[in-house]
Formats: sequence, C-alpha cells, structure tokens
Amino acid sequence: MITADFHTHSLFSSDSTESLENMISFAKKNQITTLCITDHMDLDYPIDEKGNDFLLDLDSYTKAITELKQNNTDIEIRLGIELGVMDYLAPKLTTLVKQYPFDFVIASSHLVKGIDPYYPAYKDKFPGNLGYGAYFHSILENVRAFEDFDVYGHLDYVCRYIQVPYIPSDFTDLLDEILKRIIELGKGIEVNTAGLSKGLHFPHPHPYILKRYLELGGEIITIGSDAHAAKNIGAYFAETEKHLLSLGYKYYATYKDRKPSFHKLG
Ligand SMILES: [Zn+2]
Ligand SMILES: [Zn+2]
Repeated sequence: MITADFHTHSLFSSDSTESLENMISFAKKNQITTLCITDHMDLDYPIDEKGNDFLLDLDSYTKAITELKQNNTDIEIRLGIELGVMDYLAPKLTTLVKQYPFDFVIASSHLVKGIDPYYPAYKDKFPGNLGYGAYFHSILENVRAFEDFDVYGHLDYVCRYIQVPYIPSDFTDLLDEILKRIIELGKGIEVNTAGLSKGLHFPHPHPYILKRYLELGGEIITIGSDAHAAKNIGAYFAETEKHLLSLGYKYYATYKDRKPSFHKLG
C-alpha cells in the first residue's frame, strides 16, 4: 500500500486555496502516513489570467511547514517544493534550494520558452507533434543545466493539453537521453496520479517511459497526487500501485533531508 503522498499543494501556491489543517486531517483519515507539501515556485512565470504569479513566499512557507512538523506526531510532514525549471534559471534555483531546509525538491517543466502548454499560445508556437518534441527537448536542457533536485515531476505534463495523438516511442532518443541523465545524476522521476483525473488512462509519465526508465537502470520513483485540494490527496494510489507492479516496479521512495528511503509496493 502506498502511504506517502509526495506532491501536494496548499494555499501557499498561487493556484490553491486549501488550508494545511484540512490537508493533514484528510491525509490522516485516508491512511496517508507521510505527507510532503510541495508548493509551486515558478520564477519568470508570466502572470496568468487569474493573476497568479506562482511565486512562493519562502520564508512564511518554510516557517509554517516547520511548525506543522513539530506539532504533528501522528503523521510525518515533509517540507517540499515544486520548482518550475528552465535551463537559464539553474544558478538562481541552485542558490534558492540551498537557502531552505527542504526534505524534497521536485523539478517540473511548466513552461517551454516561457509558454505553458496549458494555453493555446503553446499550440500556435509548437504545432502538431512539435509540441511534444519541444517539451521533451526543454526537459533535456533543464537536466543538463540544473542538478539540485530529487525527482523530475510529471515528465509528460504536455500530453494533458495538446490535442495531438501521443506516441512516446516517437521520441525514444530524446526520452532516453533525459532518463539516462536523471539516472547518472542519481535522481528519480515522479509518478503523478493527477494524469488519471485529467482524463488520461495512465498516471504520468506514460507506461512506455516508466518501462524505459526501469530498462535503463532507473530505480527511484516517488508517488504524488498533485492535489490542489485536500480531497485529492492520495487519489488513485491503489490503481497506481497495481499499475507499477505490473510494469515491474517493486519499490517507491520517500525523502527526508533530501535523502531517499525505499518502501515495498504491494
Ligand atoms: Zn506541476
Ligand atoms: Zn504540482
């Protein structure tokens, strides 16, 4: 049973209004014994239509989560962050990560050349299959430039939004380079169950990528719901566990003080 959710958002993220108290109480009621809060920090995110800038007040955030850790003895709380990465941000992100006592750092691609695939402007700039190629290519540039993360988040986030058939084997060379680099760095990848609530038939990344990661020697996966509301914490974990076992995975990881420990699946 998967009992740790390592990708969740609270009201410290621009796009969530959920209280930390609600998150903890929902997690406890639903057999989550370790909850890692990973609020968004996206430097240079263009302010969106709702006025979100995806910047995190790191001092207040760290203080609040540290207090939660101290005040909760019946659930393990971890201080995480989801960093939006673009290659040129690497020096700033490296400094930022060192300034706070994070347990866990997710590197994510939300922007390619400054555009979020969530918006139609992405399809205009990268029509058809180019939308996938550009996304994966930017991840490769990111993992070559930035090393101070623990897992790469939702590796194929782009497939949620572009209406082009998704055939990951068309991008084998690029995907292999990304996965090999992540493995060489001693980092992992995230299995993000939000894919299932966004109408996909798999958690991110596509099973093709998860299989390839194992074949290339990858060993570290974390599991995250990417919940922006308490009720989605731990969503689809039972299905995802079966899915991972069927692909040949035996363990998932949790992090404390940036160090992984491994837990048996099944
Ligand atoms: Zn994300
Ligand atoms: Zn997220």
